[in-house]
Amino acid sequence: MTSMMLQYLEIKEQYKDFILFYRLGDFYEMFFQDAITASRELELTLTGRDCGEKERAPMCGVPYHSVEPFIGKLISKGYKVAICEQMEDPASAKGLVKREVVREITPGTVLESSLLNETKNNYLCSIYFDKSGVGISLADITTGEICATSLENEPSKLLNELGTYGPKEIITNIDSERGAFLKSFASERLGAFVEFDVPQFDYQICTRRVLEQFGTDFLDKYGNDGCLVCATGAILEYIQKTQKTDISYINTINVYGQGQYLEMDLNTRRNLELCETMRAKEKRGSLYWVLDKTKTSMGARMLRNYVEHPLLDVRKIQDRQGAVATLFDNLVLREEISAHLSKVLDLERLMTKVVYGTANGKDMRAIHSTLSVIPDIKNLLYTVNTKELAIIREGLDPLDDICSLIDNMLIDLPPFSIREGGFIKQGYNQEVDQLRDIMTDGRGWIEKIEEREREKTGIKSLRIVYNQAAGYFIEVTNSFLSKVPERYIRKRTLANCERFVTDELKEMESAVLGAKDKLSALEYDLFVELRKTVADNLKRIQKSANMLAKLDVYISLAEVAVKNNYVCPEVDYSDVIDIKDGRHPVVEKFVKDSYFVPNDTYLNTTTDKMALITGPNMAGKSTYMRQSAIIVLMAQIGSFVPAKSARIGVIDKLFTRVGASDDLASGQSTFMLEMTEVAYILANATKKSFIIYDEIGRGTSTFDGMSIARAIAEYTTGKKIGAKSMFATHYHELTSLETEFDGIVNYNIAAKKRGDDITFLRKIVKGPTDDSYGIEVAKLAGVPNEVVKRAKAILADMIETGIAKPIEVKKSAQPELSLSFEDMATYEAADKIKKLDLNTITPIEAMNFIFELKKLFQ
Ligand code: ADP
Repeated sequence: MTSMMLQYLEIKEQYKDFILFYRLGDFYEMFFQDAITASRELELTLTGRDCGEKERAPMCGVPYHSVEPFIGKLISKGYKVAICEQMEDPASAKGLVKREVVREITPGTVLESSLLNETKNNYLCSIYFDKSGVGISLADITTGEICATSLENEPSKLLNELGTYGPKEIITNIDSERGAFLKSFASERLGAFVEFDVPQFDYQICTRRVLEQFGTDFLDKYGNDGCLVCATGAILEYIQKTQKTDISYINTINVYGQGQYLEMDLNTRRNLELCETMRAKEKRGSLYWVLDKTKTSMGARMLRNYVEHPLLDVRKIQDRQGAVATLFDNLVLREEISAHLSKVLDLERLMTKVVYGTANGKDMRAIHSTLSVIPDIKNLLYTVNTKELAIIREGLDPLDDICSLIDNMLIDLPPFSIREGGFIKQGYNQEVDQLRDIMTDGRGWIEKIEEREREKTGIKSLRIVYNQAAGYFIEVTNSFLSKVPERYIRKRTLANCERFVTDELKEMESAVLGAKDKLSALEYDLFVELRKTVADNLKRIQKSANMLAKLDVYISLAEVAVKNNYVCPEVDYSDVIDIKDGRHPVVEKFVKDSYFVPNDTYLNTTTDKMALITGPNMAGKSTYMRQSAIIVLMAQIGSFVPAKSARIGVIDKLFTRVGASDDLASGQSTFMLEMTEVAYILANATKKSFIIYDEIGRGTSTFDGMSIARAIAEYTTGKKIGAKSMFATHYHELTSLETEFDGIVNYNIAAKKRGDDITFLRKIVKGPTDDSYGIEVAKLAGVPNEVVKRAKAILADMIETGIAKPIEVKKSAQPELSLSFEDMATYEAADKIKKLDLNTITPIEAMNFIFELKKLFQ
């Protein structure tokens, strides 16, 4: 084998489960099995390289400057990549060039911005299991954020936690057999990569590691929690192992206890479409999409975190509300701050580049332009005095020292590379200026030599010329050749002149050419020094970045509240959910042309524990239930809510059992899956929880389903749980629960028949529904008339022969709200008039408007 191949194999031996990118000049090459795999996955041509043996080694490669997309592709396909660099300049190396692996890239440790989503954290997760419990730690190495918690050893709790953060990579101390549940959840639900039996979980090493990273404070507080220490220590060790660089920038850990945030499982998050839609997995159509008007990617990430972690502490919620309310009321302030925030770049990720030593001149300028808006924002915040906004104001460090440091040194538009100079401002450093003078003849040395030589030789036409290929010459025209002194060395003869050099000229030439290299090296050194100074101020900058992100979130929430007509909910520790004219924040965006009908919600833990909702398909039951849950959730985020008014007693856990979509991947039947979810809810819900059940028992026979649905309703409202809930069902028989059980109240969604047609009024009213409208809905959906007619005949037949009974409506205790088309038209007209802007409407538009209103009542 050639010595290079031996070196390759020696390194590869240590990175067996990685694809090794081995730097050879301007390429990263892969060999042997790596080459075969990579050529297949990346569609690269597989070639061969002589390796000293009979057969050539399979090889493929990618140019070093465009390596990112290739790494990205491999990572997304579940491979890990190790980058092996040349550690010395091949030109000056004696013998074989020294090479080392400088970074391991795994799904949770990606840093390349093109492989990251700006508005999403990229989490690595470590999970430590022992007999006493489970420790979890999550870190985003692109921003330096880290958090940790510990739980009792119960898989569902752990999976909830993973569902909240959606890590891209999980490392754990258990083996794949014990961790089978983790693996299937990670790959099927999160699309994450799991590594079992990771060696970094040693207690001693972990303890030392957290001590080094977070100081004695951390151990004093959490030292007793072995699971937490091991999970946190291991994640740091793993980051260190993969990054092979100083990771002291990960310096502030958020240790959270259970009971700090509203608990939701992954199903609930997905059902309520908090951050992405259920089917398309897109942001558009989610709650986050409605709420996100942030101007910065730091703010966007923080808002996503807020949405994933609604609070339980009323005081903290009120603090957030206070900030949103102030900005809600103050349009000018909001717009002025927004304008400044639009100039703010991703300081968190930029600072990581600074710490890693990969930030270039453009990155430093980006940091400068971001920091330079801070004083203005700080000043604007002096005009208000809300608690949270005052904290932001005080927390914002103007950082003018760092700002002027960068500004004094770097030109406005530095080049991409920091190796070739040309980015230090004139006047910043004397030596840089001198070297530049030499290079550009700034001090006229050519002229001086020219003049001196003319005088000495008496050759009037003597000139010094420059030519890129051959350097500097003295040019003498033919008529003066006799005057050329001996010390001139002839270089070239042209038609009417000859060219010479002198020792002095040669010296100057090498000084000029040397100056270029010297200058590049000097500029580079100065830049590295600047980068280090900025890195030394990391904590100050991180803190301001965090404040900017927070402010961005509050402004976004305020802006959304103003635009969409939200109100500030009253949040307390009561057991009441009382929403007047609530709307679904997302659905109302999609029914723009028609009118979204607002509805009230009232629940408590005594008289109104469960709203039992009956009504035809498509009437709006799911929308109504989800809107109630989402309004509660928004309130606990600290956001305003889509309603006329709302009082929300905080809930501890939110559950939804919605829809009956077959989970084909896990091979479980719909009904089995539904019951597993119900079992989970019944085991975990408390009196302070809020549960949504949508069409329970659908997946089995009618009588089974109905009995199960009834039993679940009884258990949920009964002594064991007593939670607040909403229960949509098409089993009309369940409506008798209202009279049999305390705290269950019938509701239905009004629909009106007009002949064979059905119109949904979308209004929730007390009392059970009076009909199933199944056949009418089928007609509405476009089922052929012939089938609709035949269905009616079959139904009539069944009623006649006693197989089916027509629905009997018992009068509800409360008189049913009578609703008519006219009522609905009045609501809609009122809404239209409210939204009309009298300042901008023209007389013709006004006429048209009245015409439209009139049409509503025809
Ligand atoms: P169900 O659960 O009763 O089958 P959905 O809640 O899925 O019905 O609602 C069906 C459709 O009706 C929704 O997609 C939405 O477009 C519309 N809708 C629901 N509620 C309202 C409302 N309050 N105002 C206007 N349109 C609504």
